[in-house]
Amino acid sequence: MKDYFKGVRRHIGKLDANQLREQYELLSGEASALDTLFRTITLGIILVDETGTIQKSNPAAKALLGMEPSDALPELDLPYGKSSKREISITYPEARTLELQTVPVENGTLVYVRDVTAEKERSEEELQRGAFNAVRDLASGVAHEIGNPLNALSLNLQLLERNPPDAAEIIKESRHQVERLDGILRGFLSALRPSRPNLAPAAVTGPLTSCLSALKSQFEQHRIAVTVDVPGSLPTTAIDVAQMEQVFFNLLKNAFEAIRDGGAIDIDVTYDDNDVIVRLKDSGLGMTSEQVAHLFEPYRTSKEHGTGLGLMITARLVRDHGGTIAVESEVGKGTTFTIRIPRLEKRVRALK
Ligand code: ADP
Ligand code: MG
Repeated sequence: MKDYFKGVRRHIGKLDANQLREQYELLSGEASALDTLFRTITLGIILVDETGTIQKSNPAAKALLGMEPSDALPELDLPYGKSSKREISITYPEARTLELQTVPVENGTLVYVRDVTAEKERSEEELQRGAFNAVRDLASGVAHEIGNPLNALSLNLQLLERNPPDAAEIIKESRHQVERLDGILRGFLSALRPSRPNLAPAAVTGPLTSCLSALKSQFEQHRIAVTVDVPGSLPTTAIDVAQMEQVFFNLLKNAFEAIRDGGAIDIDVTYDDNDVIVRLKDSGLGMTSEQVAHLFEPYRTSKEHGTGLGLMITARLVRDHGGTIAVESEVGKGTTFTIRIPRLEKRVRALK
């Protein structure tokens, strides 16, 4: 479409009235189709200009937000000009979860509003079906890992047939291979279907600090400066320490891989009336809008040896803690992940 406009602009002086009419008709047809799409699509779309003023919004945006987008947007504090994605809960017109996405365009920012209530409320059965599909899709990736211990086992069985006196040693080695197989399967299953978090009152800084110290020498080696800003006192949260370690580890590892060499990771922890908020900002590669759009979906990886599972698991773990995860990113500048974990007293109240 961009090329088309460029072409027309270049030749516009040479077009006669008939050719201009032809182009006009072509474009008005196109515009009316796009307009119909804009008005009928169930995705909420809002176009905001560089000053933050709404240029255009569709009926779905108003219906999903439950109010005029011009009233809703100032409350939402979206990062205009950046690619971002996050979820919010609304209570009016009914309790729903909306996903908000920003996509920078030439003269402003597109805001997409999508209803993800049904996705979030997916029944346990569906989650299990999802895990089943995921396992099936993963099979090819796992195949070679399973292949090696299986080969070793079959070799051991042959040896056993030929050299019964060596049985003890061969059985020991076989048992080791079986354990390895078991470990591989367990790892993938727990990655795909994490167990329910075992929540206990604790500060989120515990797992954060232990992850940071585990990664410290790697960061130093690659000249990545890490800063951590934590207030003197922090409200308690209900967390599963091991799972939150996995959350921070996945995020820090991604930040590390996005920076590669020489850069900064800035972490700050704050809180508001509802949540303890951890922001992890990296000075890495950043992501395109397309990458952000599909973030948290399995098997989306830009890395040669990536699994594309880290963020899906991370998002699920955060959700299992009753929290939310949000991202904003700019290509070449970096990425910020924001995690909100509900304060303990809020959770206790919500459960009562
Ligand atoms: P993996 O790390 O195995 O690729 P993840 O689910 O952890 O899988 O991440 C998915 C993709 O999201 C990555 O391949 C990368 O393209 C992108 N990504 C995640 N975190 C960052 C980040 N901090 N900076 C830039 N890109 C990121
Ligand atoms: Mg990762």
